[in-house]
Amino acid sequence: MEDIKKAAEILINAHHAIAFTGAGISTESGIPDFRGPQGGLWKQYSPELASIDYFLQHPKEFWLFYRMRMSTLFAAKPNRAHHAVAELEKLGIIKAVITQNVDGLHQAAGSRNVIELHGTMRRAVCLACGRTYPMDVVIKKIDSGQIPPLCDECGGILKPDTVLFGEPVKDFDRARELALMSDAVLVIGSSLSVYPAAYVPIFVKEMGGKVIIINMEPTELDYIADVIIQCKAGDAMTLLLKEIKDRLGIQ
Ligand code: NAD
Repeated sequence: MEDIKKAAEILINAHHAIAFTGAGISTESGIPDFRGPQGGLWKQYSPELASIDYFLQHPKEFWLFYRMRMSTLFAAKPNRAHHAVAELEKLGIIKAVITQNVDGLHQAAGSRNVIELHGTMRRAVCLACGRTYPMDVVIKKIDSGQIPPLCDECGGILKPDTVLFGEPVKDFDRARELALMSDAVLVIGSSLSVYPAAYVPIFVKEMGGKVIIINMEPTELDYIADVIIQCKAGDAMTLLLKEIKDRLGIQ
């Protein structure tokens, strides 16, 4: 509880705070993370399956694997932690969310200023002409037997608009700019082992800002943290939101 109080104080006193989230914020929505203790995805599948090389060589197999994963992802709903992050943005406490997630659950919870460093699985993009398609349109193509799904415009192969291993991250300049102007970052559910994304809290720290880490397990960057809250994201964020609202006198 002492950690929650310290975190609340940091966030209330910050002039520009941001949230930085990873797969761990979505495990309580039923989406497995990659490296966490509870059935991380890479304990079941080889990471090679999510590489651009694999996609280019085996687009059909890739889409069959992805279609299976999408059933879980599309059924998922935002949890208490996503909702708390969105409410902190509405209260003006958090200015933006930088996420490594591709599940769209921050937006579904009501967060507005979201930077998706690893793209989104809610959309696919044509590798030939760049046209984008909502994923439900792409799912219809797959389910009607067009695997890999093709562009209506030019016949090119469609790829999920997510960043596969071997591809550059998206919007990193914007994320870096935001991090460099922030005096606090609330890190939720990231192992902080995937770069360049994990530079976000490092930038904040280097500029003299405070780092709060919420995770069930130790992370790679615990040594730069000012506060570590070692528990489930849903529990931690519920307590943190309540503490902040109590201090601000909001119901
Ligand atoms: P990661 O899988 O490397 O680490 C997840 C972290 O979350 C772990 O440290 C784990 O201890 C913690 N965690 C798990 N459940 C938690 C909970 N309920 N409360 C608090 N902490 C919890 O995730 P990462 O750091 O985001 O990096 C993995 C990459 O995988 C990302 O680049 C992301 O693009 C991708 N990914 C995204 C999703 C998604 O969109 N939901 C899911 C799996 C993987």
